[in-house]
Amino acid sequence: MGFFDKIKRAFTGEETPEETEVQVQEKYDKGLEKTRKTFGERMNELFANFRTVDEDFFEELEETLIGADVGFETAIKITESLRQEVKLRNAKKPAEIQNAIIEKLVELYEQEGIDEVNELNIQEDGLTVILFVGVNGVGKTTSIGKLAHQYKLEGKKVLLAAADTFRAGAIDQLVVWGERAEVEVVRGKAGGDPAAVVYDAIEKAKEQEADILLVDTAGRLQNKVNLMNELEKIKRVIQRELPEAPHEILLVLDATTGQNAMVQAKQFKETTDVTGLVLTKLDGTAKGGIVLAIRNELHLPVKLVGLGEGIDDLEPFDPNDFVIGLFKGLLKEA
Ligand code: GDP
Ligand code: MG
Repeated sequence: MGFFDKIKRAFTGEETPEETEVQVQEKYDKGLEKTRKTFGERMNELFANFRTVDEDFFEELEETLIGADVGFETAIKITESLRQEVKLRNAKKPAEIQNAIIEKLVELYEQEGIDEVNELNIQEDGLTVILFVGVNGVGKTTSIGKLAHQYKLEGKKVLLAAADTFRAGAIDQLVVWGERAEVEVVRGKAGGDPAAVVYDAIEKAKEQEADILLVDTAGRLQNKVNLMNELEKIKRVIQRELPEAPHEILLVLDATTGQNAMVQAKQFKETTDVTGLVLTKLDGTAKGGIVLAIRNELHLPVKLVGLGEGIDDLEPFDPNDFVIGLFKGLLKEA
């Protein structure tokens, strides 16, 4: 089933075959309430305020899209292709092209995501090492705690490495998450060498035949060179012990920071082999358009999304569910 059909179905409230699918969709709906409301409100205002589709309308549309954090390039791209579409259809009233706009957004989103792998690269046999990187406060430690909990529930043996040794508080925070998720945390002294902690963690993971090792790292960007060197060193230590690892380097981004998150992503991408994104705090933003910007401008797959502060508020990223959440209610019944 295509994106558009799925959205339509969600809009008309038709039954979904699997119950789990419905539950995940509900979670997305709830987490994206703010985003949808504002994105939807803005779009609805736009459609209400214009009587004819003219150049002013397109300018306003562009601004609306930029305001929703879809990114500058993406906003231009969408608006440009809509100009063509309107000409083709010879549409005069905004309402006539409302569905076309949504279709276009979905289509563009779909195109850019071809070949995108949203699943985490988890080894069937042996240890999977996942490194979490990102600036302070984006939600690295919280996401690790949530993910540890999920794998633990799946019956996997999980270990955490407290390689954010920069602040004592950071280690303690991971230990608290370890307790919540009931998984062991390998830690060193505050101010110690993060690579040494990672080394210990890998040794321990091998000893215990663990399935998953999640590595927390520091994110102080005020010293970018040091930070990148530190990440490189951690990576080297991992690769010496396990040549194929790390299996994922996940960059954590705070969705509420909008274009700032995009800048961080570009910086990290330049110096680190980021394999995917964790987009946190989607519950707290009215600007879900950032997911479109990420697709169009970064070409990094979103792998996980944070939809709240609780231990269960982490979901695998499902592009279908996401666009449904974003555009639901905007489609007009034909
Ligand atoms: P770190 O510095 O990258 O390790 O960030 P933390 O894991 O310490 O998270 C910083 C703050 O963001 C904490 O108060 C978390 O509770 C909060 N947080 C993390 N993820 C989410 C999320 O998905 N939604 C919301 N609302 N808050 C989050
Ligand atoms: Mg942290």
